[in-house]
Amino acid sequence: MKRLPTALAASMALVLAAACTPQEQRPADDLKVLISVDMEGIAGAVHSEEMSRTGKDYDYFRVIMTEEANAAIDGALAAGATHIVVRDAHGSARNILPDLLRPEALLLRDWTGGPLSMVEGIDESFHAVVFVGYHAKAGTPDAILQHTMTGGVADISINGISMPETGINALLVGHYGVPVVFVAGDQAICDEALEILGKVECVATKQGIGDVQSAALSLHPEVAREKIQAGVEKAIRARGEYSPFRLEAPYTMVLQLRNPERVEQAATYPGAVRTGEMELTYTSDDLLDVITAFARMR
Ligand SMILES: [Zn+2]
Repeated sequence: MKRLPTALAASMALVLAAACTPQEQRPADDLKVLISVDMEGIAGAVHSEEMSRTGKDYDYFRVIMTEEANAAIDGALAAGATHIVVRDAHGSARNILPDLLRPEALLLRDWTGGPLSMVEGIDESFHAVVFVGYHAKAGTPDAILQHTMTGGVADISINGISMPETGINALLVGHYGVPVVFVAGDQAICDEALEILGKVECVATKQGIGDVQSAALSLHPEVAREKIQAGVEKAIRARGEYSPFRLEAPYTMVLQLRNPERVEQAATYPGAVRTGEMELTYTSDDLLDVITAFARMR
């Protein structure tokens, strides 16, 4: 599984090298960027029907998702990226239309079942990570399609920090020493990302309005793409100013679920402790253990 991307990366590096004339300045080193693309936070989208493979407007919005990924690729290329992996990170992980995606990027589709999940493909060789189409955590007011991984999760905190998917995925890439430099999504996830990560470049594609059910006041998709491209370029150029997101071991996850039967089942996971009517706690020195427990228990 790991050999194929490496071989592809080598062949892509050759293509990029061949595209440069001898006079052009080649970057001294590789600049590797992972772009994780979710769907709920893309411009215009507001309803679950637009997010689902069986939904009526899904085919329309998957094009917008692909184009926002392209805007991020363009920004990364402008900043000098030599190796770009786009991770399709929504639902089936088979949303982005491969032939509409910029040819400079590799596309990672479908799930492995492993803990890296939405940031599958990351390793220590990458320099920066970009999130596009992201959404706020479960329970956030004025947020579009807010949830945390599944509808059954009311909250997950790690070492006392309540986490949106942005936080969990930033911890995972931080585990490999790589910073998240850019997040695009609705205004609510921009607020949460800034609170958790401290410094991160954000583009809000839309503003959610309403607590339980939200309406969206959105940028035009083309305007959103321009902002994403410019923001990604700026953030990757300044990548040295961003820190990998890390917490200190041991990692203690406190998980609040919504379904009592699910709580009963999750309590049987080895190492899980029931700490409340709907609450489970799991601790480990290994972050990947904790994220695996989260995936099995939710
Ligand atoms: Zn999603």
